[in-house]
Order: sequence, then C-alpha cells, then structure tokens
Amino acid sequence: MWAMRRVLLLNASYEALGIISMPRAVRLVWKKSAEVVELDGSAILRSPTFSLPAPSVVRLKDYIDVRARQRRSASKRQAVLMRDKFRCQYCGVKGTSFELTLDHIIPRSRGGTTEPENLCASCFTCNQRKGDRTPDEARMPLISHPSALYYGLEKAALRGAAETRPEWRKYLFLPELEINVA
Ligand SMILES: [Zn+2]
Repeated sequence: MWAMRRVLLLNASYEALGIISMPRAVRLVWKKSAEVVELDGSAILRSPTFSLPAPSVVRLKDYIDVRARQRRSASKRQAVLMRDKFRCQYCGVKGTSFELTLDHIIPRSRGGTTEPENLCASCFTCNQRKGDRTPDEARMPLISHPSALYYGLEKAALRGAAETRPEWRKYLFLPELEINVA
C-alpha cells in the first residue's frame, strides 16, 4: 500500500526533520513546498489525475527553525499545554493544567528527549495506558500535529527506519554499519 509508505523529510538545510506519510510528502511536493531529492526505487504513484515518481526523501524549500520555535516559550510545561490547546493529544479530552500531564511521546527509556517536540498534553488515563510505549506500539496516534512537535517526534525512530531505507542514510549522518573485525 503506497499510502503506508514512509518518506524522510529534510529541512532546507538537509537536516532530517522526521518521517512523514507518502500522501503528505506528495502534498508538499504538489504545493511546491518541498522538492524530491531521492526516489523510492522506480515506483510510480498513479491517480486518475496525475502520475508521479514515488519520493523517498523530500526537502523543504523554506528553512524551518524548529529550535527558535521552542525557545519562544517561557515555561515549557505551560507552553506545551497551550500549544496542545489543553487537550489530551491521544483521546482529545479537554482539561485544566491540573487535570493534564505531559507525556513523553517517545518514552525516555527509549531514547526520547524532554524537548517540547517530544512532549504532549495527555490526560492521566491515556498517560497510564500508553505507559512505556511509542504511540505506534500503543496504537494511540496523536490527534493533532503542531509542526514543531510533528517534525520532531519521530527523530528517535529514524535510526531504525534507516535500516530498511539505505537511500536515507546519508541524510541521517549515521555512522557506517559497525563491522566487527575479530
Ligand atoms: Zn486522554
């Protein structure tokens, strides 16, 4: 299923921002917000109105300063809650700052950071239910994707994904595969 295929999104600076869905990548290219820098083999996406070589890596034409967006916040907790409109990002329930907690989207035990891009508002029930799992593992997708959050959240997953997508590796600055020379 092409809709399920993932695409690596690069900043204008070629810095990897995250993994996005094929439909989203196609929309970015269609709007001329991004350009294709690597193709997904020789696959062609076809719809009744267009055909397009399937992208594997796309690059934004305008630079997004993810860090500057994060710096603007005075209090991280308050800023994250405000960004998420005081709404649990898993079930959508609204709450006050006493009724909501911050969830690490990628759990800390799995390499997730405490940066705002890896935090979201969560009710206590969802926070408990998700536990030590990623949203994918818990089958608890985020309901909205503020851009800094969206672009950052899957960084921790890039490494794993790159193992099956060799054409991504050069953009992730990954060390060469370790070869044990005994
Ligand atoms: Zn919830």
